[in-house]
Amino acid sequence: MECKVAVIPGDGIGPEIIREAKKVLDKVGQTYGHTFHYTEVLMGGCSIDAYGVPLTDEALETAKANDAVLLGAVGGDVGNSRWYQVAPNLRPEAGLLAIRKGLNLFANMRPAYLYKELADACPLKKEIIGNGFDMVIMRELTGGLYFGERYTKEIDGLMTAVDTLTYNENEIRRIAVKAFDIAMKRRKKVTSVDKANVLDSSRLWRKVVEEVAKDYPEVTLNHMLVDNCAMQLVMNPGQFDVVLTENMFGDILSDEASMITGSIGMLSSASLNETKFGMYEPSHGSAPDIAGKDIANPIATVLSAAMMLRYSFDLDQEAAAVEAAVQKVLTEGWRTADIMAEGCTKVGTTEMGDLIAARI
Ligand code: NAD
Repeated sequence: MECKVAVIPGDGIGPEIIREAKKVLDKVGQTYGHTFHYTEVLMGGCSIDAYGVPLTDEALETAKANDAVLLGAVGGDVGNSRWYQVAPNLRPEAGLLAIRKGLNLFANMRPAYLYKELADACPLKKEIIGNGFDMVIMRELTGGLYFGERYTKEIDGLMTAVDTLTYNENEIRRIAVKAFDIAMKRRKKVTSVDKANVLDSSRLWRKVVEEVAKDYPEVTLNHMLVDNCAMQLVMNPGQFDVVLTENMFGDILSDEASMITGSIGMLSSASLNETKFGMYEPSHGSAPDIAGKDIANPIATVLSAAMMLRYSFDLDQEAAAVEAAVQKVLTEGWRTADIMAEGCTKVGTTEMGDLIAARI
């Protein structure tokens, strides 16, 4: 298969972790007979340095012309970098918002998976962790409270602030379809999270999700109120497969789910649109404090590349091979500094990439 990938190394540790993800992808290509064609795109601080803006129109067009985007991270030291002495819409992270909007990425997917080798980093008790957990939070990314009409004004002599939470049935349907499609590639269970006992938007959410579920008879659907879900995540995380939810609930729950895995350097993510196109990136930032030292953990980016194989290219076997290689490296006791534990062997960014690639 010929796969066209726009690669955005970005800033800080971005180029280092992207280099390792490409190394692993190229090994997948050699082993399984695929070719990855990379087109490098500037975004973030490096684009500001080159062009004065965090994302040029040409860069966005290049991203669109590819089958998927693999992103490292953008941004610098917020307190010190010259990139932050300008208006917010010209700062590095504005590039991220612009590319998400420009590519119409309405579905954000963040897996939370606990490797048993890293269970000591999980803040939950062993009896709660049980056999571990493996879930995906599917968050609607372009609607709801964060995008509704808002204003603050004086009403009857009192300063009053208003934010509106709006969803139409199409916005709900398209994210629900994504969640059910992804459940079909996993353990075939969707938990739809809402606040249907209070909110009209949640009642419509529930109705539309139930309609979509009829097209997926193999998938089990259950509904959960968001307050209960927040509790269940720390009481019984093993019960979840795909958690489907709206923008603000997903913002909060995906951070909670990632924290219980204990390690930021391991967390992948994807943002998807209505087609197979997606943008794949680690959940962490550009870590300027450790950039250029060959100590960053590349695993989140490598696992994001695995998601790209599975969801944009339908290369399920190849994605599983990458995930198995990461698992093997951890089982053998290799660790980057951020996940180092007693009895393990510490390696740098490049060596970790080599070790994973060698196990494909
Ligand atoms: P961060 O995620 O970059 O770093 C937080 C801490 O985790 C740091 O101590 C860092 O060294 C460590 N860390 C992060 N990734 C790691 C890895 N792969 N291996 C080992 N350690 C790792 O968050 P921050 O410090 O709040 O932000 C730094 C910059 O990144 C800022 O400019 C911020 O705006 C930007 N940022 C970008 C994105 C993105 O591009 N998607 C996301 C979040 C933050």
